[in-house]
Amino acid sequence: MSKQQPPVDGLCEQCGFNYGTGDLQGTVTLLVRQAAESAMALTKAAAGPDPDVVRLRPEPEVWSAIEYACHIRDVLEVQRLRIAQCLAEDRPVYAPMDRTGRVKQEKYEFQNPIEVGAAVMKFAREFGAAARVLTPPELARLGLYNYPVRAPRSLSWIVRHTAHEIQHHRHDIIEILAKVEPPIVPAPKPVVEEETTAEGDATDETATGDTAIGDTATDDDTATDDDTAPGGELAATVAEDNEH
Ligand SMILES: [Zn+2]
Repeated sequence: MSKQQPPVDGLCEQCGFNYGTGDLQGTVTLLVRQAAESAMALTKAAAGPDPDVVRLRPEPEVWSAIEYACHIRDVLEVQRLRIAQCLAEDRPVYAPMDRTGRVKQEKYEFQNPIEVGAAVMKFAREFGAAARVLTPPELARLGLYNYPVRAPRSLSWIVRHTAHEIQHHRHDIIEILAKVEPPIVPAPKPVVEEETTAEGDATDETATGDTAIGDTATDDDTATDDDTAPGGELAATVAEDNEH
């Protein structure tokens, strides 16, 4: 995790989530869908030409896709338990989930992406089922919440905040995989038209030529070894997602 800490109110400019819009049912539906999309991106990458991309951190301080996926799985479970605690207790005080400590303690990095993806979807459905049936008086119940500062929060806020966690990290997972995944579809070849301007610089010409040949060989290998259809679909999804 790096970057700035996401907001817990109003609009998050990093992922587009808005705490001020959307009703309960719509928010829960969005959460379940986005959890499924995160799980799908993870398992597709793990089934690709280099399954270990899910374990690559794009920067030393930024989590890998598997680490983010383990995080959202645990968030979904902890938040469902907090809903139950809030309904059962008069003045609930939620135990911190220790989001950063879990990364090492639970060995997020070494977990199986297929199992993690399945657990993300299961816990999203279970969280959704617990959240959907909350009545307006229940949604207004307060508990003492630790993140990012110790403050009383309503169950309504907990549902929205959980939906934000899922949307925010879905965005992270897809963005990270787009950075670290090997290209499945051959990259478009660079257009070389400016031969007249490159005149006279032998060193540059050699360097450019070598790079182009190397790239082409790698891309062709990848395309031959794998079914290109799912890759094309994934690449299209990733490109589309980055525009939002
Ligand atoms: Zn966000």
